[in-house]
Amino acid sequence: MKIILLGAPGSGKGTHAQQLTKQLNIPQISTGDIFRKNLKEGTPLGLQVKDILAQGKLVPDEITVAIVKDRLAEPDCANGYILDGFPRSIKQAEELDKFDNIDCAVEIDVDKDAIVRRLSGRRFCPDCNGTFHISTLSDATKCPACGGKLIVREDDKEATVKERLRVYDETTAPLLQYYKAQGKLKTVDGNGTIEEVYAKILKVLQ
Ligand code: AMP
Repeated sequence: MKIILLGAPGSGKGTHAQQLTKQLNIPQISTGDIFRKNLKEGTPLGLQVKDILAQGKLVPDEITVAIVKDRLAEPDCANGYILDGFPRSIKQAEELDKFDNIDCAVEIDVDKDAIVRRLSGRRFCPDCNGTFHISTLSDATKCPACGGKLIVREDDKEATVKERLRVYDETTAPLLQYYKAQGKLKTVDGNGTIEEVYAKILKVLQ
């Protein structure tokens, strides 16, 4: 099954993609993770996108589409995949339609104020890529999964969060209409617990 997870930053796409990838045994393709990995490793791509990520802007479509196209051509994507954070613009969606045919786009719909709360309490582990919320951590500096040092992602800082939400409304939200017109959009209320929202996602995928 070829699935797109749509939703504002902080809507839970990454968390649910991680659960789905285990349950459905298909890979999670997160463009954000790909960019952060390159940043961490100091690759030419990493240097190219460093400032863009820090400012909460979008990496140019040509760069992002080329990366995804290459990734989806790998053998592990043959039986399907979960796209987390891509597409993020109509242009990216149109390009994706030229080289693949997705089955459905699941929108995780979360209230804006809940999103700001979630993002400002979010902590990231650069060692294992885990994301956690301070409300669930006994020690807000230590990764509960691998013991690594937790950080606040540069793009989870307040000014960047505001810019990411603005970019979402302006450039990414129009995708909802795009997939609705194709009859592929499924919307899930993302305001419950992780377990509740995940159960709703599984239901719409059936
Ligand atoms: P994420 O972890 O999905 O929130 O992505 C983190 C950052 O990576 C975004 O704020 C963008 O700067 C960049 N990024 C991720 N996915 C895309 C995409 N599909 N198109 C453009 N930029 C992206």
